[in-house]
Order: sequence, then structure tokens, then C-alpha cells
Amino acid sequence: ADTDSAPAGEPKSQKLPVERRGVLYVLSSPSGAGKSTIARTLLEHDDQLSLSVSVTTRPIRPGEVDGRDYHFVDVDRFKEMADAGEFLEWARVFGHRYGTPKQPVEDMLCAGQDVLFDIDWQGAQQLHQKEGGDVVRVFILPPSMAELERRLHTRATDSEEVIAGRMERAASEIAHWDGYDFVLVNDDVATCYDQVHTILKAERLRRSRQTGLIGFVYNLTR
Ligand code: 5GP
Repeated sequence: ADTDSAPAGEPKSQKLPVERRGVLYVLSSPSGAGKSTIARTLLEHDDQLSLSVSVTTRPIRPGEVDGRDYHFVDVDRFKEMADAGEFLEWARVFGHRYGTPKQPVEDMLCAGQDVLFDIDWQGAQQLHQKEGGDVVRVFILPPSMAELERRLHTRATDSEEVIAGRMERAASEIAHWDGYDFVLVNDDVATCYDQVHTILKAERLRRSRQTGLIGFVYNLTR
């Protein structure tokens, strides 16, 4: 409720009208750079952060859960959603369509949550164009291409052909590293996680996110 419209004589609500603007936190990396581990740990340790679950047309993989990892849909349904303007951004990534549904993101922000996006460089770019300063883009690099290849082999989930494809895609993904605000090298997953969390915590303190809060408390207009 608007605190200014309280009936005369009643004390003003002590609840702050705006806590701060939410962070739209984008993590991108080539597959195998350790992004999923870092994202999972972040979500487990930070209760102000929620994950944006994307919609995709790619087939579900063993171990994945519909609604948790992605919302798996067919191409017709995806196009329907895109035409209806239900995506905040969407892109074709390696032959499949991936999109961020708009409504859940709005709901999470309204609930005072920051939102984590595991999306590619095209998504990061579109989100930045739409939402500007609320978006923070972090790119995670593997220590080297050789190390990336080694990691992809030790995952043992993919064939040689799939790994070769992933290496090629990694190179094209890495070429877009300049479209990010922060670039981290994942030499050591604990250190990299710490850096990712530190950036988030610092971004929450940006003045531009706190104008409502600071203005209310100190009676400032800007
Ligand atoms: P995978 O199929 O391996 O889960 O994801 C392939 C790539 O698609 C990853 O780089 C991932 O970050 C990206 N991706 C996943 N969801 C989205 C999305 O909603 N939008 C965009 N632009 N990329 C996405």
C-alpha cells in the first residue's frame, strides 16, 4: 500500500516502500567450464536468489527433470509462446531454441528476489538491451582449451563426436567474452564460486539499486 495515502492521524507504515532494485544476474560459459556447479552452489547458499528456468525445444537428457532444468516443449509451442510475447529473450543455440519466460522473472523480482540466468551470449545481450543497468553479465572461462577438452572427457557422458562439437561451440561462445561485465577464469571451482558470489553481493549495494530505500530513510529526492 502507498504509505502517503494513510488516513490522517494514523502513523505512517514502517515498511519501506522499495527495498532495492533486483539484480538480473547472468552467468554464461562454454559447457564444461564449471558454470552449473557454481550456479547450483550459489542457489543453495543465497536465499535472495532464484533461478530463471528456461524453455527449450532440445530433447530432455538423462537425469534432467522437466520444470526444474528446463521446460521442455516442441517447436510449435515455442513459436506460439514467442509470438504471444511470453519471452524476455530467446535465441537459437546450437540448433535448438531456448527462451526465458517473462512472467516468472517478474514474479521473482516482485517478491524481492534477485534472478539467476544460465543463458548464452545472445540472451545476455538481449537482456542487457531490454533491462539495462539491472543486468549483470558474468562470463566464466575454462583455464585453457586443453583443460576444457580434458574436463569434457572426464564427464564421460558424451561421445567423441559430441565432445568435438562442444569444443567447436566453446570456441565460438568464448569469442563473445567482450559482451560481459565480468570475466572469470575457473582454475579452481571454490575460488571461482567465491568471486561469482562476491560480485553479486557488491552489485546489490550499487547506489542505483537503492535510491528508493535511501531516499525514504533519509528523506532525499534522488
Ligand atoms: P544446454 O542445452 O547444454 O543445456 O544449453 C546450451 C546453451 O544454451 C547454454 O550455453 C545455455 O546457457 C544456453 N541457454 C539455456 N537457456 C537459455 C535461454 O533461455 N536463452 C538463451 N539465450 N540461452 C539459453
